[in-house]
Amino acid sequence: MSDEPLCQKCAGLCCRYIALPIDTPEDFDEFEDVRWYLAHEGISVFVEDDLWYINVATRCRFLGRDNLCGIYEERPRICRSYTEANCDFHSGDYGYDQYFTSIEEIDQYMKDKDIKPKKRK
Ligand code: SF4
Ligand code: SF4
Repeated sequence: MSDEPLCQKCAGLCCRYIALPIDTPEDFDEFEDVRWYLAHEGISVFVEDDLWYINVATRCRFLGRDNLCGIYEERPRICRSYTEANCDFHSGDYGYDQYFTSIEEIDQYMKDKDIKPKKRK
C-alpha cells in the first residue's frame, strides 16, 4: 500500500478487498441472508469485536503491477489510516472471532448455536 518497509515486501494484500459492516444476524431469516452472501464467489464474512462484516475480494484499480499504490498522494482516507503495524501482512486471519468462507461453515455455526427456523403457524 505505502512506501513503508513491510509494504515493499508485500503483495499489496490490503488493496485486494473491501470490508463493510453488516447487521448482526439474530434469527434464522437473518442468517439466511449471510448464507446468501456466502453463496457468491469472492465473499467471506467475519466477526471482530462482536461486529459482523462482509468481505469482498476485489483488487483495487490503482494497485500497480509492482504492488504499490498508483495514486499514493491522492489515495482515499481509509488507505491513509491503514498502517503496516497490524495489517494483513502479519496475519492471514487477522485474529477474527469468526471467519466464514462458505455456506457449510455458517451452517455449522448455526447448528452449534441452535439457530433454527421459527415454527410457522
Ligand atoms: S498489507 Fe500491510 S504490508 Fe501489505 S501493503 Fe498493506 S499495509 Fe503494507
Ligand atoms: S488506492 Fe492505493 S492504497 Fe488504496 S487500496 Fe488502492 S492501491 Fe491500495
